[in-house]
Amino acid sequence: MNNKTLLDTAKKFGTPTYVYNAETIQNQYTKLKNAFDGIDVKLHYALKALNNINVLRLLKKEGSGLDAVSIEEVHLGLRAGFEANQIMYTPNCVDFSEIEEAISIGVHLNIDNLSTLEKFGNKYGNTIPICIRINPHIFAGGHNNISVGHIDSKFGISFYQLKHVVRIAKHYNIVINGLHMHTGSDILDPDVFLRGADLLYEAANEFPDLTFLDFGSGFKVPYKEGDIVTEIELIGKKIADSFRNFCKNYGRELELWFEPGKYIVSESGKLIVQATIIKQTTSTVFVGVNSGQNHLIRPMFYNAYHKIENLSNPNGQPKLYSIVGYICESDTFGYDRMIPEVREGDFLAIYNAGAYGFSMSNQYNARLRPAEVLVVNKEPKLIRKRETLEDIYRNEIILED
Ligand SMILES: *Cc1c(COP(=O)(O)O)cnc(C)c1O
Repeated sequence: MNNKTLLDTAKKFGTPTYVYNAETIQNQYTKLKNAFDGIDVKLHYALKALNNINVLRLLKKEGSGLDAVSIEEVHLGLRAGFEANQIMYTPNCVDFSEIEEAISIGVHLNIDNLSTLEKFGNKYGNTIPICIRINPHIFAGGHNNISVGHIDSKFGISFYQLKHVVRIAKHYNIVINGLHMHTGSDILDPDVFLRGADLLYEAANEFPDLTFLDFGSGFKVPYKEGDIVTEIELIGKKIADSFRNFCKNYGRELELWFEPGKYIVSESGKLIVQATIIKQTTSTVFVGVNSGQNHLIRPMFYNAYHKIENLSNPNGQPKLYSIVGYICESDTFGYDRMIPEVREGDFLAIYNAGAYGFSMSNQYNARLRPAEVLVVNKEPKLIRKRETLEDIYRNEIILED
């Protein structure tokens, strides 16, 4: 997607608008799929990153499965045409009725606490196999809201409670066909990933009925120049070697699963906004834009760096700006950015907006959610209409006087 495509898209559909490039999504999928040295890995795209039905259908065509973290996401997957057995359901702190619904649909079930495991055993015994989510207690680095495998994390069953899992499984004849870990997306060092893998291999010895191991995600993408990224070929080769070795010791070939979200869609997306106000204060020059934390919350929530570019004045004299949103909070997209001169009305592109952008958006300040556009073969296609005021009060019930 070059600047012209982005500008044309913004002029055609208005701003703010999320624009995704289909080709980037396909390329990232293929790159990851082929990174494991000949092992036919199964990828379940984590749809919480970006769940537009057209993106799901695109990935289905590529051969992807889905990782769903809520029953609603399971339904989005089915609606997009996925078979139940292509969907892995990994809930956290949900009511048991949601688990029952997932089981009746027939998706793979990943259990992440002992209470649910007992309830499951009681009701279903050995009638359907399940996967167990293990917390390997690895600190993956990064922001605490992103990193989910550390000691204080609410996710998974502790590695140190495996004996208890085995006991419960034995008592209820539960068939455990998979082990899972997901440590969060800021693993910078392949060796950290492999330490987690080693723990899963060790745990696997307790479970004779396994058919797959699921290593979750943790694949990083660059957000700014010089960022350390997961070197996918390097880590792929290392994981493949260690997995082959594990299968030999385990005595059977298992499947190797992953659940990438960010890696697949982050770089495909840009949020196009427009400068509304240039405001000189005593300390800086603010560029106010017609968007905010209601549309892209990562910079404020995770302190994430998102590159920002001036699409409509790329050759302007670079100046130092703070780019801020229009919400009544301090919603700063970027501090101290050198950007070609921004004039009121200029179009700006905020990078890496494909993952956890639209899907985390909300209607705070009674603001409307943006439109979404998918660029297919260089042609921008509207895949979600911009909201209207009606979307904000649709479910309100006006009481009689
Ligand atoms: C969020 C999530 C993922 C995807 O993580 P990314 O960092 O977007 O790749 C995978 N598995 C589970 C269980 C998740 O909750």
